[in-house]
Amino acid sequence: MVRYVYDFCEGRHDMADLLGGKGANLAEMTRLRLPVPPGFTVTTDACRAFLGAGVEPEGMSDEVSRHLSALEDSAGRRLGQQDDPLLVSVRSGARFSMPGMMDTVLDIGLNDDSVVGLAEMSGSDRFAWDSYRRLVQMFGSTVMGVDAARFEEAMTRLKEACDAPDDLYLDANDLAGLVETYKQLILDETGQAFPQSPAEQLRLAILAVFRSWNGERARLYRRREQIPDDLGTAVTVQRMVYGNLGADSGSGVAFTRDPATGRPGPYGDYLANAQGEDVVAGIRNTVPLTELEHIDARSYRQLRDHMATLERHYRDLCDIEFTIERGTLWMLQTRVGKRTAEAAFAIAAELVEEGQITPEEALARVSGEGLARLMFPRFDADATGEPLAHGLPASPGAAVGVAVFDSAEAVRRAETGEKVVLVRQETTPDDLPGMVAAEAVLTNRGGKTSHAAVVARGMGKVCVCGAEDLAVNTEARCFATPDGTVVQEGTVISVDGSAGAVYAGAVAQVASPAMRYLETGERTDGVTAAVAGALEQADSVRRLEVRANADTAEDARRARRFGAQGIGLCRTEHMFLGERRKLVEEMILARTDAERDRALAALLPLQRQDFTDILAAMDGLPVTIRLLDPPLHEFLPDRTELAVRVAATQARGEQPDPLEAELLEAVNRMHEENPMLGLRGVRLGLVVPGLVAMQVRAVAEAVVARTRAGGSPQAEIMVPLVGAVEELRIERTEVARVLAEVSEESGVPVRCPVGTMIELPRAALTAGRIAEEAEFFSFGTNDLTQTTWGFSRDDVEAAFFSAYLDKGVFPASPFETIDPDGVGRLVRIAVDEGRATRPGLKIGVCGEHGGDPDSVHFFHTAGLDYVSCSPFRVPVARLEAGRAAL
Ligand code: ADP
Ligand code: MG
Ligand code: MG
Repeated sequence: MVRYVYDFCEGRHDMADLLGGKGANLAEMTRLRLPVPPGFTVTTDACRAFLGAGVEPEGMSDEVSRHLSALEDSAGRRLGQQDDPLLVSVRSGARFSMPGMMDTVLDIGLNDDSVVGLAEMSGSDRFAWDSYRRLVQMFGSTVMGVDAARFEEAMTRLKEACDAPDDLYLDANDLAGLVETYKQLILDETGQAFPQSPAEQLRLAILAVFRSWNGERARLYRRREQIPDDLGTAVTVQRMVYGNLGADSGSGVAFTRDPATGRPGPYGDYLANAQGEDVVAGIRNTVPLTELEHIDARSYRQLRDHMATLERHYRDLCDIEFTIERGTLWMLQTRVGKRTAEAAFAIAAELVEEGQITPEEALARVSGEGLARLMFPRFDADATGEPLAHGLPASPGAAVGVAVFDSAEAVRRAETGEKVVLVRQETTPDDLPGMVAAEAVLTNRGGKTSHAAVVARGMGKVCVCGAEDLAVNTEARCFATPDGTVVQEGTVISVDGSAGAVYAGAVAQVASPAMRYLETGERTDGVTAAVAGALEQADSVRRLEVRANADTAEDARRARRFGAQGIGLCRTEHMFLGERRKLVEEMILARTDAERDRALAALLPLQRQDFTDILAAMDGLPVTIRLLDPPLHEFLPDRTELAVRVAATQARGEQPDPLEAELLEAVNRMHEENPMLGLRGVRLGLVVPGLVAMQVRAVAEAVVARTRAGGSPQAEIMVPLVGAVEELRIERTEVARVLAEVSEESGVPVRCPVGTMIELPRAALTAGRIAEEAEFFSFGTNDLTQTTWGFSRDDVEAAFFSAYLDKGVFPASPFETIDPDGVGRLVRIAVDEGRATRPGLKIGVCGEHGGDPDSVHFFHTAGLDYVSCSPFRVPVARLEAGRAAL
């Protein structure tokens, strides 16, 4: 029989699929004998069944009742019991943490009667009514669907009427009045009364949490974090403990290390006389966790002990929610905490140093995406000037953008390509779209564990929070600094998330420490040392080689500094541009062989020099040179412009320039409706006489020049867009002829492997045949994706990809992350059949995917020998190739 409910003492941390992260870790803390209020968890199975069928699965509610009875027995009181009520929280918790994205309801079990009992038992009327108004507010918004803002408005009105700067100034009477207001609000808005039956409250809250899995913000968050939509959430029901019982009570959030920098030591926020939600919501200003030592030394000591226990147990940074009820500490949540890229590298290295984890484990805990983030530029310390304001450095990095004051505006402007900084008093889950759109988030309230900080760190966005000096006015769409400077919406500001500072205008940027390390090997701080260690570890375990796509000697040199083991794709088309265009034009327009040969002869020394330089920069390492790929008309003037020019001349009754007329005639002749599928790649070589010979001669002569100079050139010649082995056979004969010719002439034997790109489905499907002629394969996954899906990349991305992503046709653009089922299948077929013909066939990939983490893992599994990517992605690919091999 399926079981839908587990008591905390029955679960374990490795049951997160079933119990959600929160439920599993509460169970784990219970096993570790930490002080956890008792409770039980309804499984994700139950959630999926409920969401699928629209009704609770059979047996679930009986199981819930049984576990509730046990909870009541252990507490010695019943849920909502009139004279001494047991109260519970109903908490959401999915497999992957989705901070604040789903619902939680506290203080379930209170009603018009039990609130009186709670007041008597606790000796505090204020506490009882504060708890009741929290329940009605949370229940009203999350379960009954009343807009949360309506409750906030009522609260604000009351505070104004009572002249109360914050909710602590409201007394029991005020709060009792507020409960009435809230109840009326619910009735007006929904036509239904707030339910007085505790059992009904519990049941409705559980179902509401299930439903919140499909709430809009939860869905948006999942899409962004690539969390599958079909996991469902678990629901945890837990005895309440009260942080709002007076000055000797409170709630807090703690991290065992700084999640922004990774520095060891306690870190977090504490708020006296508050329930948990208040800390994260930034409603009142929190105090730093270390202050707790002066407020309640005993609880602080216990908390530090528990933090140490958890970090040792999980062998990682943990974040923790806790509550102190009249001097007694309770642990309410823990998990392996989210962290910035900087902290991920620093903590992993530190834990290795402490002997807690192995270097392999450390490598598993960092990511290529994180490394890419560390390579972004920083603000130039000499160019910053006086900051407009200081806040908390909640998520590091440098961001420049225009200030905007709400989520919708951020989205609107970002869609037009503008870079924006979202400025809010504090953020709520409703601000998520704006945070996704923004470069940085700036708030004037809330601590380093506020919503803004947690979410920004999770997304790798820059964040400065709690900039209390700023007067943020979202109505007037501006903020003011203490000296009276007013910054209006649309003004450019710079946000330094590492220093916690905000500047007017766009501050100049410099290379980051990680970038300096990659460029020079210089290790300037702990994070760079950690990056260096991770890369060394990756290099020692990876099987995939990493090459770079580079067309110039300068790119080749940079790639080499970044650790590239050769060039996987050297495109020759840029060598046909600029001043050389004229020569190319002559070649294309040549009427006689002699004319064409003259043009080609003029191009030859230029190409030779390009190749010589690149081979020098990559001396000793393979350089894969691709013969010309794009259709030739790309090198001719624009057809429409030219036609207009010629027509205008004729309209003036003048004779068109004969050269122009001839050019137009040629452009018209060569025009293609679908150039991507037209005369390009190997097809050019087969129909344009002399082109391949010139290119191969340039390569061969460059090899000769480098050899004579004492170098060790390793040129490889790659034929693009082959679909049939015959194409390659013909082209290869020509290549071999020219190589032999140059060897003969120079007396230097030139041996260049000749291979092909696999970038058409037909090439992949006939790879066994193609391998008869190819000494290596390189997957051109950009074209292979285009031709497999029938997507024109230049057209589809803007036209409908975002709709496709929304509708879940694919989880990520297949141009960014390889489509494993379709394009990936072709890759596997080609690898298998290619190697069946030619064992040991060298196989790489040179599409954009070569630098994409998920794709790198795929290529590792598919058995490729190397990936090739842009120079800046080389360190990322090295790291991910290492992680793939773990
Ligand atoms: P989230 O996933 O958004 O953090 P939680 O389920 O953790 O939601 O609950 C929100 C807040 O309520 C947290 O601060 C949590 O510590 C607090 N809380 C949850 N359950 C209890 C409880 N039984 N007693 C006291 N506070 C609780
Ligand atoms: Mg929580
Ligand atoms: Mg291609």
